[in-house]
Amino acid sequence: MSPPSRVSWEEVCGDCGQSFAVGSAVWRCECGGLLDLHAPVITEPVDPTGPWSLWRYAPVLPPLPEAARVSLGEGLTPLVPAAEGCWWKLDFLQPTLSFKDRGAVVLIAAAAGAGAERVVADSSGNAGTAIAAYAARAGITAEVWVPAGTSAGKLAAMSAHGAIVRVAEGDRAAAAAGAARRADEPGWYYASHVYQPLFVAGVKTVAYEIWEQRGRSAPEVVVVPAGNGTLVLGIDAGFGELVAAGLVARRPRIVAVQAAACAPLAGLEPTGTTVAEGIAIAQPPRGHQVLAAIERSGGVVATVEDPAILDARADLARSGVWVEPTAAAAWAAWRDPTVPARSTATVVVLCGAGLKSPGTGGNLPGADR
Ligand SMILES: [Zn+2]
Repeated sequence: MSPPSRVSWEEVCGDCGQSFAVGSAVWRCECGGLLDLHAPVITEPVDPTGPWSLWRYAPVLPPLPEAARVSLGEGLTPLVPAAEGCWWKLDFLQPTLSFKDRGAVVLIAAAAGAGAERVVADSSGNAGTAIAAYAARAGITAEVWVPAGTSAGKLAAMSAHGAIVRVAEGDRAAAAAGAARRADEPGWYYASHVYQPLFVAGVKTVAYEIWEQRGRSAPEVVVVPAGNGTLVLGIDAGFGELVAAGLVARRPRIVAVQAAACAPLAGLEPTGTTVAEGIAIAQPPRGHQVLAAIERSGGVVATVEDPAILDARADLARSGVWVEPTAAAAWAAWRDPTVPARSTATVVVLCGAGLKSPGTGGNLPGADR
């Protein structure tokens, strides 16, 4: 997402080229285009004397006021050996138990830096919880729009952080529409994990961590679940920047994993429900960018069936790692001999904790985290 030849930070409309201040409340160009974040080339991405949190990577993060940089000690998650040539990135070990904290901490810092007193988001789980927690940390009021039928546990987590929870009459798209209406009202900052490019700027730190944990080298393959594709875009941005800075020779191949029942990135029509609710996104707004990132890496979109996801989840749990089905989809892909995920150095990103979804559950395509 970041043509690295740029010398300064800016948010740019991908359609008409108009530029916007980094971290501003603008979340979509007036022409309707999506905003992308352009970043300069940084050859020393780590601040060795910096805080022990995601802000360790402040040199490669958007220039936000220091006073606005809230933190809950996010990031810096373990990379542990899983099998011959394979490592698990335990990215669910974050303050709100999912990788979304990486994006939320940067986005809320931007909102705070812009003087926002109220943020609105739409989600039915991990993203909404992360936004609610970091908004609380920053003393900002959060309103989270969720679809009807959102589980009581997720509502409880968001409410516990003090968020105003609005249940839309309808599906995930209805929740997004409600949030977007609110975002257009004066005084509201749209903390969207899909539209705001600063969210992906936080997520990209997972690439920098993997690089550091591997002794400043890139793996050959990274396997991630993909719904809206923020992890794909983060991996693409992070390793793309490392290549541009001359710190790695080539970016890893991205294996983006979707549930077979909802795999638009594989060119398939949704066919039903899936236990991997976090990646059941029928129409990802940044889908074309996600596909471009996968292609740029020489990677593939892989699909896995629900029984394989549940089997992979059980396999992980018996190895000491309990994740939600969405995260287990990545491990299911690695275990599938027809998926080109294995190499001498593969990292499988496990993005959400098992407590997020204790039962096997499932919901309709179009749901989102
Ligand atoms: Zn535009």
